[in-house]
Amino acid sequence: MTAPKRLVLRLRRLLWAVIALLCAGTVTACVSGDDRPRVVVTTNILGDVTREIVGGEADVTVLMKPNADPHSFGLSAVEAAEMENADLVVLNGLGLEENVLRHVEAVREAGVPTVEVGKVVDPLTFRATADGELEEGAGQPDPHFWTDPDRMRKAVGVIADEVVENVGGADERTVRRNAARYDRQLAGLTAWMEKSFDRVPEDDRALVTNHHVFGYLADRFGFRVIGAVVPSGTTLASPSSSDLRSLTEAMREAGVRTVFADSSRPGRLADVLRTELGGRVEVVGLYSESLTAEGEGADTYLRMMRANTTALTEGLTAH
Ligand SMILES: [Zn+2]
Repeated sequence: MTAPKRLVLRLRRLLWAVIALLCAGTVTACVSGDDRPRVVVTTNILGDVTREIVGGEADVTVLMKPNADPHSFGLSAVEAAEMENADLVVLNGLGLEENVLRHVEAVREAGVPTVEVGKVVDPLTFRATADGELEEGAGQPDPHFWTDPDRMRKAVGVIADEVVENVGGADERTVRRNAARYDRQLAGLTAWMEKSFDRVPEDDRALVTNHHVFGYLADRFGFRVIGAVVPSGTTLASPSSSDLRSLTEAMREAGVRTVFADSSRPGRLADVLRTELGGRVEVVGLYSESLTAEGEGADTYLRMMRANTTALTEGLTAH
């Protein structure tokens, strides 16, 4: 940290101490509104994780709505302004939140601390798949790191460090304790996923998904990525008929009969594929890149990962 940055941080901490003193007895009135420390998070997956870490130490604002598409969601003027007033902005990055990037750049230039989590969790790059597709995106960083819970553990450490460093008024011991507790839950998740996937025979560990969203999970748990209906690292592309033909050929060759589509989006393309392959294909829904609203099956990162693990295991062993 540079000397001026450290000075700013010390001044912020001092200011918080003064506020705490002045507020004695009228804390609620004093800390309501804009005085509370605030962390703004772009995606709802990282929003849930950040809330686990921050606990009651700061307000956490999540910009992406439940069931939204992280590749295409945008911000209102109010939400953009909220970012400007944040003590810390947490984003997934690696090109995921395409419509939010310019706002992040603007607040970063204005001096708001930002952390691009994807960059610091040992990112993978997109590779060409079995059907030879994804030529365009090959070599680009893959932003979907959350499908590997070990990388999410790394992310938890990074976010906790950033909160401690930048969010004046947040108690360091509480933040560290929250992060350690959540890390233990993630370690438990990884072990449970390994055990579940043990049920899938080696030959059946082949994934066809809506777009290229499960590369990290495949890498971590030993699955082959055969192809994707949208042969791209983003949902914003659309497949040509020759893309679909090469995918169905690769699926026939690999003996794949299950396609995993995102639960929040219509499975029209997966249905087309099913028609092409003569009805022998089963389409299974996954929560691939957004949390749902409360009570809808994937309202936390842990619940999303458990639901996907169950759906993947059942989808690949059912036939
Ligand atoms: Zn995606």
